Amino acid sequence: MSRKSLRRLLVGFGFAVLGNGLAILIFGTMPESGVFYHGAKRYIYGSIWVSAGLAMLIKGSFIKVVSSLEKVVACPKCGTPYNQQEITDQICPICQVELEDLKGFYDRHPDLR
Ligand SMILES: [Zn+2]
Repeated sequence: MSRKSLRRLLVGFGFAVLGNGLAILIFGTMPESGVFYHGAKRYIYGSIWVSAGLAMLIKGSFIKVVSSLEKVVACPKCGTPYNQQEITDQICPICQVELEDLKGFYDRHPDLR
């Protein structure tokens, strides 16, 4: 699973879980679950769901930050950019030429811009 799909999953579930937590806190039940929490249980379970939802959302945003910091390399022949983690060696799978750091890449290869 790529980081992007993992992030989408985390954020999607995060909102769902957070929503359930808020529903428990406010109404004492999760939508369509048929389970009702009363008294202190409502606040305990509600808080757990809200915390879990927030944790997923935070983790999801963290992955986004990490991904943006990841080193990106590009092929000087076809111009395709790759995340360094996508490729095992520094070779473009299409052109079989050595990949270069994206930093300053388009200054060195203005024709690929
Ligand atoms: Zn290439």
